[in-house]
Amino acid sequence: MERYFSKDYSEARQRFLAGAEARPIAIATYENPARGPAGEGLFTDVARIGPASARRVLVLESGLHGVEGYAGSAIQLAALESVELPADGDVALLLVHAVNPWGFASNCRFNEDNIDLNRHFIDWDVPGNLDNPGYRDIADFLIPADFSEEALAVSDAKLESYRRDKGEQALRSAIKLGQYSHPEGLYFGGMKPSWSARTVQRIAEEHLRAAEFCGLIDVHTGLGPFGFGECLSGMAPDSEEGKRCSAWYGHVAHTKSPKTDYAGSAASILDGYKRAAPWPVWTPIGLEFGTRSEQLVRDAVRFDGWLHLNGGASNPRAGAVKAMMLDAYRPDEAEWRAAVVTRGLEVVGLGLAGISG
Ligand SMILES: [Zn+2]
Repeated sequence: MERYFSKDYSEARQRFLAGAEARPIAIATYENPARGPAGEGLFTDVARIGPASARRVLVLESGLHGVEGYAGSAIQLAALESVELPADGDVALLLVHAVNPWGFASNCRFNEDNIDLNRHFIDWDVPGNLDNPGYRDIADFLIPADFSEEALAVSDAKLESYRRDKGEQALRSAIKLGQYSHPEGLYFGGMKPSWSARTVQRIAEEHLRAAEFCGLIDVHTGLGPFGFGECLSGMAPDSEEGKRCSAWYGHVAHTKSPKTDYAGSAASILDGYKRAAPWPVWTPIGLEFGTRSEQLVRDAVRFDGWLHLNGGASNPRAGAVKAMMLDAYRPDEAEWRAAVVTRGLEVVGLGLAGISG
């Protein structure tokens, strides 16, 4: 199963194109005007298994958080090889590969504009409708001053002091809820629609027009127990959508619950697809695979934030920071990779069964 994992974005893309050709199915390509760190071209690619007329479409998406795309891409490659659709001709599986190709190629969570796309799908017509005052409190010390254990310890001490004053949940929210005030900071939600958001809009219009019922499985890594893949819903468990998520997938964690470890952003891609294609009935979930400890993952993100402020890929420490990011979001262990693909295919199967009614 680990053979589905690629060494970098460009290899993942080539394998995705080859997998579509082998099936064979057509590819729709959306080119990002930015280039990757090695000058490589960047694309979101869309492949559809099943008829264009299908009224029931399950979307399987990878790479919203760039570096987390290795897992989603691996599941998509495996799905291209093995997924069989219900025979009634009314169900399709739409594979959206690398929706944040710059982040994937750069081994970053954020995109070419330093935007965290899972904090980004807000209503742009309502200015300032999201704010995160907690981020303002910690912005000056969340990112370490340099790439060293000493700088990390200084930052940690200040975060710990904030946690003692305000509580664990307040610290979590301050860091991860998303912020709209510091464009060079972490978990920045953006100020206008990004290339990826415009691409999601085009994908909705070009591939979901005939759909009446849609599911979304948006694959992520970096939170939860090692190799464990948890389904997440952005809706309350007793809402109609929340009930459908549970009926399709079994146990589902609800990110807006106050007790959750998950960020519970109000502007995730789960809302993004609904906004881009409001006509079908949606049953969207995130599928989150645990990797390392929360602290290790958080430290990798903080040093990656430092790298962003200090020259990015051209900084001499870039290789060391990126090694931390890869370990935090795409562990090397064969058992982790096998667990991701096995569970990913299982969840795709549940989604296809669910959407078939
Ligand atoms: Zn993610």
